[in-house]
Amino acid sequence: MKIHEYQARGLLASFGIPVPAGDMIQNADDARGAYERIAQAAGSPTALAVVKAQVHAGGRGKAGFVKLVRSAAEATEAAKFMLSNRMVSPQTPAEGLEVTKLLIAQGVDIADRIEPGAKSAKNGTKEEFYLAITTDRKSRRNIMIASREGGVEIETIAHDRPEAIIKTALHPVAGLQAHQARTVAFQLGFKGKQVNQAVQVMMNLAKLFVAKDCSLAEINPLIITPPTADHPDGRVMAIDAKFDFDDNGTFRHADLLAMADTTEENAAEVKAHQYGLSYVALDGNIGCLVNGAGLAMSTMDIIKLHGGEPANFLDVGGSASEEAVTEAFKIILSDDRVKGVMVNIFGGIMKCDVIAQGIVNAAKQVGFKVPLVVRLEGTNVDAGRKLLEAARSEIPTMQPATDLTDAAEKVCAAVG
Ligand code: GDP
Ligand code: MN
Repeated sequence: MKIHEYQARGLLASFGIPVPAGDMIQNADDARGAYERIAQAAGSPTALAVVKAQVHAGGRGKAGFVKLVRSAAEATEAAKFMLSNRMVSPQTPAEGLEVTKLLIAQGVDIADRIEPGAKSAKNGTKEEFYLAITTDRKSRRNIMIASREGGVEIETIAHDRPEAIIKTALHPVAGLQAHQARTVAFQLGFKGKQVNQAVQVMMNLAKLFVAKDCSLAEINPLIITPPTADHPDGRVMAIDAKFDFDDNGTFRHADLLAMADTTEENAAEVKAHQYGLSYVALDGNIGCLVNGAGLAMSTMDIIKLHGGEPANFLDVGGSASEEAVTEAFKIILSDDRVKGVMVNIFGGIMKCDVIAQGIVNAAKQVGFKVPLVVRLEGTNVDAGRKLLEAARSEIPTMQPATDLTDAAEKVCAAVG
């Protein structure tokens, strides 16, 4: 599960990580009030503010959906633009995403990055860092990933110059240690009072990662503000954040569930979730309906082995109702890339006749225009086969299969 940046900022703040204040708005008319609050707090009528599209995708800066403004009029203009144009970035579908929510936040000045011995910042480089915690499957540890070259180019940097990325493994029980955080802070080039600020950010992010069952907790960029009288070494702050939470852990975080924005998610996946189905949309053209995650994975494997490409992973689970099974077929058939459907059921707790009735219902409600190959085995298989046999004329594209291989061969042949 993902959340928006404005929510992510709230979460960071609640774990003691400094973030600039801001408001979420959904209407360009509210941009003026939001800007005025920022101007008032900053004590300047021309205070710097930033208007940012709130979508579950990054690359907003380069797409023109992060704008720095210095007046209510500019804030309103930026808001109007973002709310009336789709945002297209390398992280969105080609047709882009509709923007319905904006964050208007206090803008911060970012200190120039002056390399040791140099007099000024090279090409106007600013103090922007990347900092994230995620799980590394290879080492089976949580790791902290940090880079001195944060900001909008991080993907390119990670690809072209992996040596610019610092990875630190976290102890499975003890978590991130202060000495590890200090080492990374020095490697990143933090100086003076910045070091402890950066260490605090890292330690708090590591705490948050565990406490909220994150699969990704990312700050990009983490910045340093220019020196002031109060903060001669500047302040270390987060100005963009992205979280991904483990869906298997969200049941114990009511606060996170309350932040879910289903309008940002794959509609079929949201629907499937409502019916207790595990569904993941994929890129192929063979729709799969299977019971059990292991069987679903082997079904996808065997389809691939026979030269086909699964259109989805769908596990109806052990105890799906007839209604849920019918819904599962509707979800598969609503994907117009699906050129064939393979049903692979091994009835244990799940009864074959429930699946068969779901097929018949779906045939009545939406109709199978594409080839359907059905392999049923296990509990109530005879009753299931009878139901399908009786409905044969209503489902002319249906073929029974004797086993897994037979089913895979038939469906791959049918889609070509
Ligand atoms: P993203 O492109 O979706 O990752 O959006 P970000 O929030 O990271 O913004 C992209 C870039 O805009 C950042 O890397 C900064 O360079 C710049 N930016 C964002 N907010 C501010 C701000 O408050 N002040 C300044 N000076 N730059 C900002
Ligand atoms: Mn960013």
